[in-house]
Amino acid sequence: MKDGEIALTEEQISKLADGSSFGRGVDYYESGNICNPVRLGKELRGECYGSREQPYKIRVVLREGGVDDASCSCPRGGFCKHIVALLLQYVHEPDSFENIQSLNITLARKSKEELIAVIGDLLLREAFPGFRGGAGSGYVQGATAGCGCLGA
Ligand SMILES: [Zn+2]
Repeated sequence: MKDGEIALTEEQISKLADGSSFGRGVDYYESGNICNPVRLGKELRGECYGSREQPYKIRVVLREGGVDDASCSCPRGGFCKHIVALLLQYVHEPDSFENIQSLNITLARKSKEELIAVIGDLLLREAFPGFRGGAGSGYVQGATAGCGCLGA
């Protein structure tokens, strides 16, 4: 257990989950459906692939011995399987969560030009969700050109 991490158990998650959410969340976690998990203090965020092409966005606020608040962008609402999957990932693989506090320190050391490149990259990803360039990977300089279409 590292500094600032909050202990959470699988049992606690199963008590919070409603209906069949826990079992289905276990399936999602074990299938590796969670992506981009991040942690900022007591807040966890991540995405979970489900039945749609775009992943659902999950946000959970932890408190000592439990969960303070949890939400997911899926239409079901409540304490859904996506939230369960994210929390299971936190219980079993806390190191897979990128610590945003350390990211902020990294950003603070970057030059203005580097930051512009990183933010430009993020905006591009927001506009084109399929875009997977690395951070600061030449939105400004022009990365390799590509298109997902099949025709010429
Ligand atoms: Zn959900």
